Amino acid sequence: MKTIGLIGGMSWESTQTYYRMINQKVRNQLGGLHSAKLVLYSVDFAEIEALQHQGDWQATAEILGSAGRALESAGAEFLVLCTNTMHKVASRIEEAVSIPLLHIADATASVLEKDGVTCVGLLGTRFTMEQEFYIDRLRGHGVQVVVPDAAQRECVHSVIYTELCRGVVESDSKTAYLDIVASLSERGAQGVILGCTEIGLLIQGTDTQVQLYDTTEIHADQAVQFALGRRAGGSRSSSRTSPKLSKG
Ligand code: GLU
Repeated sequence: MKTIGLIGGMSWESTQTYYRMINQKVRNQLGGLHSAKLVLYSVDFAEIEALQHQGDWQATAEILGSAGRALESAGAEFLVLCTNTMHKVASRIEEAVSIPLLHIADATASVLEKDGVTCVGLLGTRFTMEQEFYIDRLRGHGVQVVVPDAAQRECVHSVIYTELCRGVVESDSKTAYLDIVASLSERGAQGVILGCTEIGLLIQGTDTQVQLYDTTEIHADQAVQFALGRRAGGSRSSSRTSPKLSKG
């Protein structure tokens, strides 16, 4: 089993979900008392959030790049960045290390491909929904992306930072999110990506008829498959060149 390096704390509310899911999935696959080999580097999210909103992505890349290096020194064999938004600087993190990074958008696109989804809705932070780094990555896999309108994006973004990243789950916000999911479906989305790792705390597949793709669950699942050598490219001793892993 490979040792997973988690870059977490963005926010810790979703990092604990990653930790639980990864361990549950290892236990389900290997049975008994098996659990994941992993190293966690958890940042102070207040620092990251301030830099995001100032547009200082360079500084966030430096923080996360040094987190990646620390994980590599601690024995991590590949990296899992536990946030969609910070994949904006994924290539900078990769430059800082010599181990691969399992890109969350590639992981999600592979599940969409398996399900035959070619048009998908996307919920996430404003950075994820409005900037190119994430949508272009999905488009590169042949997926068309539908995003909420401006007022809906504002609602989704603000609930993430003022509620979900603080561990607050409100029923009004759940209703608002489910309305937005329904409107994306009416606009032609065959499913909706929960493209922020905290959204699964608010809405789940059982809340709607629309097919949801929870990036936390997908990313955790593929991390385990890769750690156990059950995912394409996972059996190499050095998977840096694996086509299934991110090259930025
Ligand atoms: N966890 C969130 C995401 O997946 C938002 C927090 C962040 O900005 O990193 O995008």
